[in-house]
Amino acid sequence: MTVTTRSLAGDTETYDLIGVGFGPSNLALAIALEEAGSPLRVKFLEARPAFAWHPGMMIPGADMQISFLKDLVSQRNPQSRYTFINYLHEKGRMNAFINRKTFFPSRVEFNDYLKWAADQFDCCDYDRRVIAIEPDTSAGAVQNVEVTSCDADGREVRYRARNLVVAPGGRPAFPAVCKGLACTDRILHTHDYMRKLVPQLRPNARIAVVGGGQSAAEVFADLANRPQAPHVDLVMRADAMKPSDDSAFVNEIFAPEQTDAFHDLPEGARLSLLKDLAATNYAVVDEDLIDAIYTMLYEQAVTGEARLALRARTHVTGVSLRDEDVGLELQTRSGVETAYYDRVIFATGYTRDLDEHTLHGLMPFCATRTAGRDYRLVMKDGFDPAVFVQGFSETSHGLSDTLLSVLAQRSAEIAHSLCHLTDPEQAVAAE
Ligand SMILES: Cc1cc2nc3c(=O)[nH]c(=O)nc-3n(C[C@H](O)[C@H](O)[C@H](O)COP(=O)(O)OP(=O)(O)OC[C@H]3O[C@@H](n4cnc5c(N)ncnc54)[C@H](O)[C@@H]3O)c2cc1C
Repeated sequence: MTVTTRSLAGDTETYDLIGVGFGPSNLALAIALEEAGSPLRVKFLEARPAFAWHPGMMIPGADMQISFLKDLVSQRNPQSRYTFINYLHEKGRMNAFINRKTFFPSRVEFNDYLKWAADQFDCCDYDRRVIAIEPDTSAGAVQNVEVTSCDADGREVRYRARNLVVAPGGRPAFPAVCKGLACTDRILHTHDYMRKLVPQLRPNARIAVVGGGQSAAEVFADLANRPQAPHVDLVMRADAMKPSDDSAFVNEIFAPEQTDAFHDLPEGARLSLLKDLAATNYAVVDEDLIDAIYTMLYEQAVTGEARLALRARTHVTGVSLRDEDVGLELQTRSGVETAYYDRVIFATGYTRDLDEHTLHGLMPFCATRTAGRDYRLVMKDGFDPAVFVQGFSETSHGLSDTLLSVLAQRSAEIAHSLCHLTDPEQAVAAE
């Protein structure tokens, strides 16, 4: 989306803290600050017009991959009024939920829970995409930062803050072969699946889904069941769809207390542990979804229909546009061919980088690009504001960092540091 910026308005308050993004990470922080009795003046800036958790992947029937007990707060404070259980209670669905006998709510329900919690805070300005963060150098040493946001109509609003917490999530990642072509109406990312692909779906459309992980499988299964009966190829490099490992011993790595142990390891050991445990989260699929897809393909073999195909051991080596079609150059063990589709959707994950976008203006003041154990970036002398990051520390803090598992604890640690920075006595009282 190109936004032409127009007038510049200003919020005249200097906030103690500005949070970039109001997804689960900063929402958990809002809760932690409230529960610590923090007097900080806080403002969160959220690009979306209203609270929404991964709306582009709100696929009907998709379930959470994590227990509802790993909500915004329960692991830290099960007595909080922001627990998933209290949400069920307030919505009058406690017994019905119990009767379902599951730890895994649907994504639709978890989004509703998150929205219910977000609606209890008035410290977030929506429709405010942060487009720049600059140091305020007017007083010599940097004591504040200027945060510029932009609304959907291109109007800029500027804010000022003493401290920052940056939690914008990941950005859709496309393979290098898409360079210059990605994000057209024909070449999409699963991030936009429900918003862009589903509404445009024509009967008998030819669609390729590229990827071998959970999102690819969910989109493939959803398309397979759509009334427009599209022809769908699932194109993946791997030999087979592999199940995610959520067995009990392996799951222990997601416990909040594992963060210290992981952080204390030497870099080489951390990287090898991440590689070892990748099958909990990356390029893997829930076993029940694998079974459902296998059954779909089996039934298709019985009827002789040829609408759905799993193209394993297939690398996408080129992408091109031809008239109304998208050409995918596909390399398999038997050679290279080009297949043509109406739409191609990439389920190729998300990138998380701190420097290129949101924090660009502060990079000259960063001493390192990795956050410390307290999720705070180390800044150079003469730069006073504390800059915390959420969701950018997988290689230093462990696999949970981009997930929901550590939200309750991480937000409390950041809240504690913030209270300590601004009022050490109050922080001690909150402990
Ligand atoms: C489809 C999908 C399903 C998932 N399911 C699970 C699951 O079941 N269990 C699990 O543990 N994890 C899951 N995850 C991982 C996911 O990262 C976390 O669930 C969670 O969303 C992380 O929260 P966050 O607040 O850090 O990031 P996000 O949820 O991405 O929120 C970031 C927010 O920042 C906003 N933002 C971004 N840039 C700006 C900007 N410049 N200015 C203002 N606002 C901005 C975005 O609009 C967004 O609202 C899933 C991820 C996806 C994509």
